[in-house]
Amino acid sequence: MIIDTHCHLDSLLFSPPSCFPYLLNRKKHLEFDAFFISMSTSPLDWLTQLELSKEFKRVYCALGIHPYYVQNSDFKSLALLEKLFVGESIVALGEVGLDFTLPYKKNKTLQLELLTEQLLLAKRFDLPASLHVRKAHNEMLDILSNITVRGVIHGLGASKELARSYIDLGFKIGINGVVIRENACRYHELVRYFGLKHLVLETDFPHVKIKNLKEPFLSDIILVAGKIASLLNCSLEEVVDKTSLNAQKIFNLNGILDGK
Ligand SMILES: [Zn+2]
Repeated sequence: MIIDTHCHLDSLLFSPPSCFPYLLNRKKHLEFDAFFISMSTSPLDWLTQLELSKEFKRVYCALGIHPYYVQNSDFKSLALLEKLFVGESIVALGEVGLDFTLPYKKNKTLQLELLTEQLLLAKRFDLPASLHVRKAHNEMLDILSNITVRGVIHGLGASKELARSYIDLGFKIGINGVVIRENACRYHELVRYFGLKHLVLETDFPHVKIKNLKEPFLSDIILVAGKIASLLNCSLEEVVDKTSLNAQKIFNLNGILDGK
């Protein structure tokens, strides 16, 4: 079993259906059965994500408001999110976070308010969070030290010290196709330093394109796992098995993977 802990499958609705065989498991990632946790970004795609997770047995759904989309959301959106957490089968809060790069920095206050409220909801419903953090690590760590939630810092390319702070708070590090770039030294260092115990796999499909490939693809996750195996000098199977176990634990998937 291989688990893609962070992808955006609603994008498949706007692209050729070449990925659907993977979702239906007709086309496997090598010999592995693949499961997907599809992230939403704003209330506008919540219902689509829910529909996808109902239609495809191997797709699980995360709902949340991404920092890029906070200006389109308000506290009414939070009431809807709460309602969906009560009535629907959702495995995570995501994708949420803080992004203080330009031009998103102008919404800093709103980002902080909406993130705090969403994390409080995740805590209440015992859901993990998939976090996007850019130029806002101090603020994020500050919030996480006050609100106890577990989860994944997705696409983290930071120092060992910063990664350690997140790991100590109960987070795993999500590794995607960026790790394949030759100049991604920080990613390589994090993988080598922390090893499989603290990593999960992700594609962030369709947002990360692997060098020399024409377009992003769901099966890119095998290339990510292969790169980690070469960095750690271990087998691909070991990377897939251990990262899938980490993902099952953090997203509380045990027991629901076969019985959905
Ligand atoms: Zn994403």
